[in-house]
Amino acid sequence: MVIADTLNIEVADEKFGLTLMVDKEKNRVVFAESDKDFVDILLSFLTMPIGTVIRLAGKQSKLGCMDTLYESVENLDVQYLQTEACKSMLLRPRSASEIECMKLPLQLKDTQVTYYICPNWSSSPETHKFTSTASNARCRCGKVMDKETFPILDDEKGKEGVFVKGNERFMISDDLRVTSASTMTLIKSLGIRDMTAVEEINLNAGADMVLDLLKCLLVSKTPMSDSFLSKRETTDAIKVKQRDIARSQMGRVAGSDKNKIRVKLLINTSNDKVLYAEAGEDFIDLLFSFLTFPVGSVVKFLGTCSSIGCVDNLYKSVIDLSADGLINYNDAAKLINPKLAPHFLCENNLLQIEEATPRNLTYEGGTILLALNPKSPDGITKSGGGFVKGPVTFILTDDLDVKPFSYTRTISFIKKFNLPLGDIQEQVVNVGEEEALDFLKASLISKMVLNDVFSPRKRKKIRSQTGSFCF
Ligand SMILES: [Zn+2]
Repeated sequence: MVIADTLNIEVADEKFGLTLMVDKEKNRVVFAESDKDFVDILLSFLTMPIGTVIRLAGKQSKLGCMDTLYESVENLDVQYLQTEACKSMLLRPRSASEIECMKLPLQLKDTQVTYYICPNWSSSPETHKFTSTASNARCRCGKVMDKETFPILDDEKGKEGVFVKGNERFMISDDLRVTSASTMTLIKSLGIRDMTAVEEINLNAGADMVLDLLKCLLVSKTPMSDSFLSKRETTDAIKVKQRDIARSQMGRVAGSDKNKIRVKLLINTSNDKVLYAEAGEDFIDLLFSFLTFPVGSVVKFLGTCSSIGCVDNLYKSVIDLSADGLINYNDAAKLINPKLAPHFLCENNLLQIEEATPRNLTYEGGTILLALNPKSPDGITKSGGGFVKGPVTFILTDDLDVKPFSYTRTISFIKKFNLPLGDIQEQVVNVGEEEALDFLKASLISKMVLNDVFSPRKRKKIRSQTGSFCF
């Protein structure tokens, strides 16, 4: 991949055509018809990190507790992170498929792919031959690498689509099942009883509409209606049930117990509810790294029953379209097994997510630049490390407000709960792969993450040998 000082693609007001079949009486989209351009845009959502969705939604995603978690990172003093760049990595996570997605017919605002190099680069290219995906990583010379460069796309490839091949027409249902087989059976399966109530609407969709669709994808069961029809509120908001948190282990190999992380829970013994938790850097790394996880990886972890909006349907559509030969094997893998962007993996990888290999970047003119690991304070190119600088303890609330531990903060917490000290008990639990998955899912769909994951029965099962005791 060649990078240069100037942009070679225009991020303008692109539009694309979309035909909607709308049930006027019920004010809902029955289905949409499109070419592969719109389907490529939809599928690209699977490659997008959760943190990007939160950022683009202006921290109003309503996605479980993710908005609060994102704000916790924003408000965290950088002294608690390995490098300043760690904060940028979490707030502006990168996608392993970002170069491919530059070929999409429409780019969302504020998603320009930028690589950063040392400002001293031009004076001595050999000494400063590094790139970073974060805007404030440090070069080995000590300077902040804030000089922007941009990838140069190959024009020929830009004409071939991104994920979907060929020139089929596609039918997309309101709940984002994508199919290319437009038979009568399919039309009937959409539940249209009276064809006279169905009206055709032709749209010129732009970036704003696509952004609305992205926001609805994760929180609605009728995202097309909610984003394309006027005067509609998101109707089928997800209601979380305890059983939804229960994890699906389809196709997963059990992880090793040796990486289990200790978390201390503060319990109200009068009702057995978790008041808050205390955890070290390993657990906070896990929690913060959820922001860097691509949407598709979450569906994969949760065995296509994530209960998160309509994203399961979109994910299953990739498998069907791939079986029909409309997406080739490599492109389907980028959607159904999306990796973290290079250098985003944390060492205690409880969920066994994979990281993409760093791309070789060549600066215009020919010098090969090495990708630095922005998490590393030592300017290394090797993967690994974590975001949070330890040893340190954090306090986290039921809705994932995460702050560094302090005694005064603990006292103010206990005062806020207005409980006799005798009613508060500490329990130490060990979080393994199973609990980490529960945590991921609850973070995305629940507003009471600690209590959903660490229910009394669950706590009994995973309580640490060190036991529990009262104040
Ligand atoms: Zn330098």
